[in-house]
Amino acid sequence: ASGEKKYKRILLKLSGEALSGREKFGIDPKVLDLMALEIGQLVGIGVQVGLVVGGGNLFRGAALQAAGLDRVTGDHMGMLATVMNALAMRDALERSNIATQVLSSIPMSGVVDHYDRRKAMRALSNGDVVIFCAGTGNPLFTTDSSACLRGIEVEADLVLKATKVDGVYSADPMKEPDAERYERLSYDEVLDKKLEVMDLTAICLCRDHNMPVRVFMMEKAGALLNIVRGGRDGTLIE
Ligand code: UDP
Repeated sequence: ASGEKKYKRILLKLSGEALSGREKFGIDPKVLDLMALEIGQLVGIGVQVGLVVGGGNLFRGAALQAAGLDRVTGDHMGMLATVMNALAMRDALERSNIATQVLSSIPMSGVVDHYDRRKAMRALSNGDVVIFCAGTGNPLFTTDSSACLRGIEVEADLVLKATKVDGVYSADPMKEPDAERYERLSYDEVLDKKLEVMDLTAICLCRDHNMPVRVFMMEKAGALLNIVRGGRDGTLIE
């Protein structure tokens, strides 16, 4: 079964919102179990999986700033939120018998291990799922940027960004039914057309280091497996 894959090592970015399911806040364990199932299919065919989880289901620095908090403090809260999401995700993966390690950009002795690139690469080579949390460890960045950063660092073949819709559209397909879905885009097209796929830092990082990104719909069962086998779900940015 190990021959049937196009990508050997991937970096999957899950937004915090995805973890809350139908709720507006928090974590829905049922959603986590579904994700563990999809990720387990990849592990099952020998794909090495790095995960970056966001924190938007709990706290976002920008939203806290708008509510009157100091921005950097808000970003620290946002990064801590991603650690909670990572712990919940590890719990779901391990309940599905998928060996998982959590590495945090902010040291948190006794709770999670500190991020170390060589340790991450060894764990991935070993077949363990590695969850990178606490973003980049710095305020004023997003977890999209940390996903691209870690993906490039650990030499992933592809960054996968899970979204609510099945790819990148010319306009918000929830609001404009005529919006057109792109099969492929260059990094510059994403920038020129101001498509809100990822923040500019993340896109520029991928462009500078030739890291392809595929935007896809996580809720579509089997989409993730299809992509690592070379399928064309969603939109490819390269
Ligand atoms: N964050 C940060 N530095 C990083 C990554 C994240 O300060 O490198 C903070 C930022 O406040 C952000 C929050 O953590 O709003 C949660 O991350 P993000 O908004 O990217 O989560 P998502 O939208 O993917 O759920």
